Amino acid sequence: MSLLLNADFAPLVDLAAHRQALWERQRGYILERSPLLRDVWGEQEVPTRLEDIESLPLVDKELLRASQRSAPPFGAYLAADPVVVMRIHRTGGTSGEAMNLALSAADADQTAIVGARAQRASGLRPDDVVVHCLNYQMWMGGFTDHTTLEATGATVVPFGVGNPELLLRTIRDLGVTAISCTPSYPAVLEDVLATQGVLPRELGLRLGLFGGEAALDVPGFRARLEETWGFAARNSNYGVTDVMCNLAGQCEEQDALHLVALDVVHPELIDTHGRGVPWESGASGELVLTHVARDCQPLVRFRTGDIVVVESTQPCACGRTAPRFRVVDRADDMVVVRGVNVFPTSVAALVTADPSLSGEYRIVLPGPGPYDYLPLDVERSRTSQEEAAPIAARIEMAARADLRVSARVRVLDFGGLPRTEGKTRRVIRPQE
Ligand SMILES: [Zn+2]
Repeated sequence: MSLLLNADFAPLVDLAAHRQALWERQRGYILERSPLLRDVWGEQEVPTRLEDIESLPLVDKELLRASQRSAPPFGAYLAADPVVVMRIHRTGGTSGEAMNLALSAADADQTAIVGARAQRASGLRPDDVVVHCLNYQMWMGGFTDHTTLEATGATVVPFGVGNPELLLRTIRDLGVTAISCTPSYPAVLEDVLATQGVLPRELGLRLGLFGGEAALDVPGFRARLEETWGFAARNSNYGVTDVMCNLAGQCEEQDALHLVALDVVHPELIDTHGRGVPWESGASGELVLTHVARDCQPLVRFRTGDIVVVESTQPCACGRTAPRFRVVDRADDMVVVRGVNVFPTSVAALVTADPSLSGEYRIVLPGPGPYDYLPLDVERSRTSQEEAAPIAARIEMAARADLRVSARVRVLDFGGLPRTEGKTRRVIRPQE
C-alpha cells in the first residue's frame, strides 16, 4: 500500500522520506511505461532524488490534451495496461474537447482515502448522514467525490443534481445532517423553501461541504450562508482533475486549505518564469504536482495553473501537520505590463480600498499584447457622487505606487459591470 496511515497528521520529514521511496519505484515505472513523459524527458537524466526533479521539464494541460488527440482515448501517458483501468471519468464533454481520466482500482482507493482526509478535516464524522448533490454524469465530482465521503465512514446519500423538492424531502425523511454541493446551490434551495414557508435553518443541517468554486472566499458570502442555514460552511474539496479529485480542505480551526496528499503527491512551487520557489511558510507561486504512486496516468511536474500562497508548514491547532495554503489566482489571469506581472487579486486590493468604488472591476485587454498599460474598468459605489476624473486619477496613482504599472482607468456608474454567479472573470482577453 502506497498510502501512509493518517498522513495528514504525520511529521513532514517522514512524509518526504515516504515520497522518496515511492518515487524510486514510480520513476522506473514511468520510464518503462509512459511514452509521453519519455518523449518530454528525451535524453535527459531523470533524477533518482525527488528533490532534484526541478531539472525536468514542466507538463501542462495542453500537452495532455494534444496527447489524447493523437493517442485516444487516454493519451500516450496511460502507463498501465488498459485491462487495469477500472473507472473512466470524462470532463468538459459538453463544451470543447472531452478529457478522459482513467483510474485503476489502486488509484481509485488512493483517491477515496486522500479525499476522505479533506472531508474529515472539514468536520464530517462517521455518525453524519451526508447528501451528495454534485453531477454524477461522468464527472469526477459526482461518483468519485461520493467515494471520498463514504471513506470517512459517514452514511452517504447519492442525490446528484436537480429536483430540489425531492432533495428537501429526502433531507427531512432521512435525518440528513450534512450537505455536499456547490456554493451556489443553497440559494436554489432557499427559493424552494421560501415557497414552502420553511426557514433553511429549520432543516437541521449542521455542516455544508463545498468545493469547485472560490465563492466561499468572498467576504461575507460564507457568513451569510452560515447565518441562513445554521451550519458550518467549509471548502472541503480542492482538487486538480488530472492529479487527484480532492487533495485539500479547510479544517474546523482555520480557513486555509490543508494539503492532505503528501504521502502520494509531491508539491512544488514555481515563479512566473518557471523557476523553483522553496516550499515554505509565506512562499507563493504556481502549484506544480507530481504523482509518486499512480498506475494509470501518472504525471510528473504538472502545472496546476493555480497560484497559491503557503500559509504555514507548522502544525495546525487541529493537530494536522498537513501544510496550509490558499489559492489566490489563476496563472492564466496574469497580465504582463511592461515586464511587470499583475494578478487580479492585487488589482482587487486597490479597487476595494477606495470608498467611492463598488469593488467590482474588469481588465479588458485590447489585443494579444505586449501591454504598455493596464486597462481597468471600475464602478462607482451605489452612493458615490464623486466625478469620474478624480477617481480615475487616484486609482491610476495607486496602481503606479503599489503595482508599479501605468493604468488607464474607466469609471462606470454603479451596475455598469456584469455580475456573474460563481467565480467572476476579471481578465477578458480579445479572443473571448
Ligand atoms: Zn487544521
